[in-house]
Amino acid sequence: MFKFPWARTWPEITDERVLAAFAAVPREEFVPDHLRQWADRDAPLPIGEGQTISQPFVVALMTQALALKPGDKVLEIGVGSGFQTAILCEITAEEGETSGHTVYGVERFATLAERAEKTLHRLGYYPHLRVGDGAAGWPEAAPFDGIILSAAPAWLPRPLWEQLAEGGRLVAPIGPTSYEQILWVIRKEGGRMRPRSLGPVRFVPLVSPLLNDPAQRISHISG
Ligand code: SAH
Repeated sequence: MFKFPWARTWPEITDERVLAAFAAVPREEFVPDHLRQWADRDAPLPIGEGQTISQPFVVALMTQALALKPGDKVLEIGVGSGFQTAILCEITAEEGETSGHTVYGVERFATLAERAEKTLHRLGYYPHLRVGDGAAGWPEAAPFDGIILSAAPAWLPRPLWEQLAEGGRLVAPIGPTSYEQILWVIRKEGGRMRPRSLGPVRFVPLVSPLLNDPAQRISHISG
């Protein structure tokens, strides 16, 4: 099975469970066949539909910031290849339960969602997947202990904040263009935001008709 030996050289990643998840998930299974030889690079790669599989280090940083325990319920917006989803399945896995039973993922492109689902099932991961606009979240399954956005909106979608559990963490790149995004981790404490910046990042945009409605946006990240 494919490993990331160099993951040990990421000084920011100190959570052993995150490193163990990276050792367990074969990234080459999530990239197109002709790019498999590049799967061990710490870099994003194209996966079709103009989208990319995220850089492993960024996936690790976001996963660590989510601070998930086994059995926690987590929602991912922008499943893409399914690699981050598989990492979430590993991190939340409980003994004796189907891997992924507390993981929910939304993807805009049906083509990508279908391919991701096939790959995930082949590897023994069974998260709940849906095709649609992830900015609306997954209200029937809320509240979530963690919510992660793998694509960047210009504003935080209000439904996602509302679907975050008290004490939960939301990890999201937010910003108007790919040059002005900040990676935020926002804790919900007493219903209020406790935000922390993890620095500038570059993600593909979150494409969401829902966010055309100003009432669905939270335009200011503040405590
Ligand atoms: N975690 C994925 C990242 C894929 S790139 C991986 O590592 O493979 C981000 C994904 O977000 C793309 O697949 C894109 O289609 C999807 N996306 C963009 N806007 C979306 C939206 N509003 N709802 C759901 N998915 C969206």
